[in-house]
Amino acid sequence: MAEETTPQSTTPAAPPPAPPAAAAPAPATEAAVPVEQKLKVRKPRQRSCDEKDAKGKLCAGHLKRWYDYPKEVVARIGNDTEIYRCEFCKTLYKPDPKQMPHSFTLRY
Ligand SMILES: [Zn+2]
Repeated sequence: MAEETTPQSTTPAAPPPAPPAAAAPAPATEAAVPVEQKLKVRKPRQRSCDEKDAKGKLCAGHLKRWYDYPKEVVARIGNDTEIYRCEFCKTLYKPDPKQMPHSFTLRY
């Protein structure tokens, strides 16, 4: 009779920590734009955000052309509006209606 000294413990293994979640979380959608999101008019040649935070520090985020804005935003600014959004504080900027877009050649 061979002596088998198995180091394996005979105590039952602990049950797995957590069963797989049955309900999958809802698919992530585009970040909802809060209704109170600021909408400002861009100053002529303004390229960076001039919002200030609670401490009065200038945001200075880059204003980026925003193309795929959600319909909540369309409802506020219209469908065909050129819109810019601050990369930091997400403030929306509409172009100054009095200012011609840069892509147009000035011809008076
Ligand atoms: Zn900003």
